[in-house]
Amino acid sequence: MVRKTDSASRGRQHSVAAAPHAPSYQGHQLAEPAPWSERAAPDIAPCGVTVERLRYEEEQAYFNELHLLAPIGYFLVGFDGTILQANLAGAEMLGIARTACAQYRFRSFIEPASLADFDSYFSKALNAGKPKHCRFHMIHARGEAVPVTLLASADGSGQACRIVVERAAGRQAALEQCEERFRRMVHSAQEGIWEIDASATTSFVNPKMASMLGYRIEDMLGRPLASFMDEEGKGMLADNLERRRSGIAERHQFKFIHKDGHAIWTSMATNPIFNGAGCYLGALALVTDLAETRQSPELAWELASFDALTGLPNRLMFMDRLKLETRKADRQFSLLALLSIDLNQFADIRQRHGGPAGDALLVEATRRLAGCMRGTDMLARLEGDNVSVVLGGLDHLASVERVAQAMLGLLAQPFDLDGHRVALTASIGVAMYRPQSNQLDALLAQADQAMHAATAQGGNRYAYAAPELQYAAAARQQMTADLARALAKTEFHILYQPIESLETGEVVMAEALLRWRHPMRGLLEPADFLPFAESTGQIVDIGDWVFRETTRQLRQWRTSISPSFKVCMNQSALQLKADASAAAADGCEGMVIEINESALLGDTDLLTQRLAQYRALGIQIALDDFGAGVSSLSHLKHVAFDYLKIDRDSVARIDHDDAELALCEAIIAMAHKLGLKVVAEGVETALQRALLTDAKCDYAQGYWFAHPLEVADFDLMAATLTAQNMH
Ligand code: C2E
Ligand code: CA
Ligand code: CA
Repeated sequence: MVRKTDSASRGRQHSVAAAPHAPSYQGHQLAEPAPWSERAAPDIAPCGVTVERLRYEEEQAYFNELHLLAPIGYFLVGFDGTILQANLAGAEMLGIARTACAQYRFRSFIEPASLADFDSYFSKALNAGKPKHCRFHMIHARGEAVPVTLLASADGSGQACRIVVERAAGRQAALEQCEERFRRMVHSAQEGIWEIDASATTSFVNPKMASMLGYRIEDMLGRPLASFMDEEGKGMLADNLERRRSGIAERHQFKFIHKDGHAIWTSMATNPIFNGAGCYLGALALVTDLAETRQSPELAWELASFDALTGLPNRLMFMDRLKLETRKADRQFSLLALLSIDLNQFADIRQRHGGPAGDALLVEATRRLAGCMRGTDMLARLEGDNVSVVLGGLDHLASVERVAQAMLGLLAQPFDLDGHRVALTASIGVAMYRPQSNQLDALLAQADQAMHAATAQGGNRYAYAAPELQYAAAARQQMTADLARALAKTEFHILYQPIESLETGEVVMAEALLRWRHPMRGLLEPADFLPFAESTGQIVDIGDWVFRETTRQLRQWRTSISPSFKVCMNQSALQLKADASAAAADGCEGMVIEINESALLGDTDLLTQRLAQYRALGIQIALDDFGAGVSSLSHLKHVAFDYLKIDRDSVARIDHDDAELALCEAIIAMAHKLGLKVVAEGVETALQRALLTDAKCDYAQGYWFAHPLEVADFDLMAATLTAQNMH
């Protein structure tokens, strides 16, 4: 048997040697048995069973469990000398099978010369109140005579006698034999056996255990258990040992690290070891290599791919998925971001509140993080509190920042740890995948570096690995803050561009066009800020403001200019999808909402529903920018528009391009057939206006007539026009 030191192994021997008096069975200390005669038999026997028989069975069961593994021979011998029971050591001593021991009489193993002495000793023992000692030679089935000491005593029933047989050479010899047996078992075991001492140092491993981890036995002995684990395992170790010290035996899945660095997933049954005085001596584990059992490929796959604590993918699965995502990004030219997240105060909290609380915190934190992502993104736990995220298929960097910001926000909300409120901040490092680069390790390293940079700046922030991205992110962050402030401080402002009736020359409508009076950058046009507001989602709040403002203006003009006056406002696809709560307002009669074709792509059910809501409020719908991009006439068939607005690029060409003019004429005729009114946008010349009038276009909007105007200028213009018409 391989052992750390002789004295350590003798220590174990001695604890076993105590077995007959302080019996131990499968690691449990058993109570000292009461003398058999003193043990009470049940007074009332169930029907048909004699009290004696019951007592006998009880004794046998007791005999079995107590003495089966003892290193000394134990026999229960009937009054006629038949061997009723023998323990393992006893059967081996005589060379008989335990199951067939009733075929033998005990005296047939006594050296013939001493038989008379034995008979008289046996009958005295049967009738005596006290156990009796005697020395004999017993004959093994193989024929050799062995000197033994017998200790025989009546079992109290008068029916049988128990005999303890110890080799004269003493307990040491018996123990050696016993150890020999255990050594055989331990060496040939197909499970790993691992014993640690009270300081979690390896005091014993069997050959199977050493080969499972790729070591020689000598290399493992004396090494701390933790040195065969990764950081995550070490994290769990303290809790596991704590449970062992408090006497808990358990079976669980555990990962060890093979000498060559790869992970070995095992199923481990661990038992604490205590001495007779209740002192914790260490623990013993039976370890099975799960990859070897192959009984459940799913389990092995799951263990190999997922983190046991959080249920998140582990490093192995993460790297697999990352590889797939990079290939996808290569094919689709989409953006792929890798986020490395460190929970800033995690180590401290774990130390203060203990391992289990730390685990619970980690589970909750990762749950919150997952809540910020789309279903197609991946969150994985690589080790310890280091979590990584892959965000694929992105259109713009602002999406990465939105996710990172949401993560920081959710983590900042206090956690409840058994009644203690704790706060967490995170450092998020972001690395963007460079298409076709295929360098995953470099990408991971960059994300980690950026994460450390975020920590160095005080944590609770995200940082890009590339400085130019960091700079752009800072600019975007500034813009987001500026937009929020603009809304709060009403830096937004609406200009109205008149739309004239080509039939009467009157101003019958106005299109609301948004401007931003930026305190530093001056007056900004929609192209300067709307695409950004769209990417951050701020467009929805801005749109609500525009809606309220234009409906207010609309009501005013329906009084001052004409009760049939209309105001058009633009809505992006995103606004249209967002909650139309603003549209639930009253007084929308005369409002026209302009959408372009991009709003028609995607969820048509939602669109139809939204447009029906608008209609119910008296709002009309215009299809904007018709003729730009990939205009499809089929849209006009499916969605009931009221107006069609011909794109200004088409209008700009009609005075010098006959084909374009023909196209415009056809569009106008077709729209009329479908019951739509047509607005020509961007009319800049008298010729364009004349051509459109000839083509029966209903309305015109453009610089030839008027630029987008301030409300005061608009009022002035309307008043002048009305006065002219009156003359
Ligand atoms: P749009 O809906 O096509 O609006 C017409 C644009 O053409 C306006 O640009 C207007 O100033 C410009 N325009 C008008 N007449 C002429 C002309 O004769 N020649 C030329 N070259 N341009 C003319 P603006 O104000 O810069 O708006 C740009 C776009 O921003 C709008 O295009 C619209 O799509 C969007 N937009 C404006 N306000 C809002 C808003 O409140 N919400 C949303 N979602 N989008 C808005
Ligand atoms: Ca428009
Ligand atoms: Ca337009």
